[in-house]
Amino acid sequence: RAGHAQDYVNDLFETVKTRNPNEFEYHQAVKEVLHSLIPVLDKNPKYIEHAVLDRLVEPDRLISFRVPWTDDRGKVRVNRGFRVQFNNAIGPYKGGLRFHPSVNASIIKFLGFEQIFKNSLTGQAIGGGKGGSDFDPKGKSDLEIMRFCQSFMTELSKYIGPDTDVPAGDIGVGAKEIGYMFGQYKKMVGAYEAGVLTGKGIGYGGSLARKEATGYGAVYFVEQMLSSKGLSFNGSTVVVSGSGNVSIYAMEKAMQLGAKVVACSDSSGYIYHKDGINLATIKRLKEVENKRCSDYVKEHPDAVYTEGCSGIWTIPCDIALPCATQNEIDKAAAELLVRNGVKAVGEGANMPSTLDAIDVFLENRVLFAPAKAANAGGVSVSALEMAQNSARLSWTMEEVDAKLQTIMSNIYRESMKASEEYGVPGNLVVGANIAGFVKVADAMIAQGI
Ligand code: GLU
Repeated sequence: RAGHAQDYVNDLFETVKTRNPNEFEYHQAVKEVLHSLIPVLDKNPKYIEHAVLDRLVEPDRLISFRVPWTDDRGKVRVNRGFRVQFNNAIGPYKGGLRFHPSVNASIIKFLGFEQIFKNSLTGQAIGGGKGGSDFDPKGKSDLEIMRFCQSFMTELSKYIGPDTDVPAGDIGVGAKEIGYMFGQYKKMVGAYEAGVLTGKGIGYGGSLARKEATGYGAVYFVEQMLSSKGLSFNGSTVVVSGSGNVSIYAMEKAMQLGAKVVACSDSSGYIYHKDGINLATIKRLKEVENKRCSDYVKEHPDAVYTEGCSGIWTIPCDIALPCATQNEIDKAAAELLVRNGVKAVGEGANMPSTLDAIDVFLENRVLFAPAKAANAGGVSVSALEMAQNSARLSWTMEEVDAKLQTIMSNIYRESMKASEEYGVPGNLVVGANIAGFVKVADAMIAQGI
């Protein structure tokens, strides 16, 4: 019946809004997925009959807990911790932990919901989950971070395990925090369960190339997309927002492929370096010295620093890689990028473009690589880390990188194929959502209500 899927999706979206009041990021993520799935629902009524989406939009569980810790002055501080276990139809819950003051239930749910489809797209046996806290690691001492991580894991350890739920990093959580949390988990359970967390240090169960994986993977994906139109990174001008783990390795791979990266940013502002960013300086400032982008211009006086991070999208470029955070590109920024001649956009961050911004890119025929596909390299190598932990061995950098490249090509091919099969050739937003959804939905049907 024509329009049936459309009506079903509209009704379901109203239910989601009523049930999750004021959770705007969660609404946004759900809206995008529901609308892009209409063609699949039209073709396959079984997904509606089995209420697959009604079930998918409600997480298996959302755990919220108190995280008390003491700061260096001996004062007791309290933060809120979360873990959403969204869906485990195809594997244990898998997804990062975000430590950032903006974290709330809406943010964690949007991330966990997207993780279901992203993880399915990787072709590996991992379900969807996410967690974090409104704790702000910025300006905290190492000991404060350690005490916070220990307290956070004391509670989280009750809900996770190598075959249950496997957290990793995200914004504000890197190898250091994972190390502190792994130490505490080991104490809580009294066993060396290496596969309970990914993103570990190389010396105790971490995987080579995990650190680079999200950024490298995003560039591998965009390179595929470009080459389908006879384009490439070589000789292009690139703007990469952020200067964290995703951004740094996206810049590195783009540069290796011959691009000139002219700008990057942090939460305070952005740098524009006409002749190309010096990556060694950024790496030292951000990975070693814990400094700001504003410190870059002290060493490179020919670069310009501007306060406020959204201004980065005023810089003309061929390829834009938003690698900072959600909703960093709004409609106005997208229109400006288009006016300045952008040819491709690859989302390294999760949901960095608003729904309006995506429409602007698609309407103007900008090649658009959505986050669920483009940034899936990180979680893919996390799954490879789990595999290495289970087998008690470790692969070389070359082996992991080769697997990552294969995975990113597969994601590109499958997303492209789904977009063609469902009548929107080249629309990777629809293609990625459909390809990710179908595997999870079929597994849910096979496993019953
Ligand atoms: N936080 C990353 C993501 O958004 C990685 C998650 C993981 O490695 O489990 O996909």
